Amino acid sequence: MKFELPVLPYEMSALEPFISKKTLEFHYGKHHQTYISNLNNLIPETKFENAQLETIIKEAEGPVFNNAAQVWNHTFYFFSFSKNKESEPQGAMAEAINKRFGTFADFKDAFTKASTSLFGSGWIWLVKNQNGSLEIIQESNAGNPLRKGLKPILTCDVWEHAYYLDYQNKRPEYLNAFWKIVDWEVIEKRF
Ligand code: FE
Repeated sequence: MKFELPVLPYEMSALEPFISKKTLEFHYGKHHQTYISNLNNLIPETKFENAQLETIIKEAEGPVFNNAAQVWNHTFYFFSFSKNKESEPQGAMAEAINKRFGTFADFKDAFTKASTSLFGSGWIWLVKNQNGSLEIIQESNAGNPLRKGLKPILTCDVWEHAYYLDYQNKRPEYLNAFWKIVDWEVIEKRF
């Protein structure tokens, strides 16, 4: 199977001033594309040649896993945003957040703290566990919760390539911007 860069539902400048057109051109246009090209080059003549992306993530190791997970993670991340959104969770999603974290503000605080305390490159995830309750987990490098049987709900890419052009070393400022563009209507559908 040939994986392809998914077309985003917004323009490259749509997330400004929070994430710049330049960052999206590199992060989506170059980094995401490179993971897809690498994966397409790695899987021919392996048992993953015709596998679904989720299967590769659950079963592969080494470079095949790394590139497959980075493809999935970036698609999940880029499809969490909308132009001119400063939304909040509603309904069952809001109830689950309040039940687990107290308030939406408390949740954002905990997720932001997990993001700023992750050493090096990785991903912060809001996941639904086997009991149906929410958890925040940190994953290094290409880590993906599907491997642990957890259902991904929201993720933030904290590799420096996600924010260095806009915020340099200031990961907390990138997190502030992240909350301005998350589209909770999209996130709720995953929950
Ligand atoms: Fe990234």
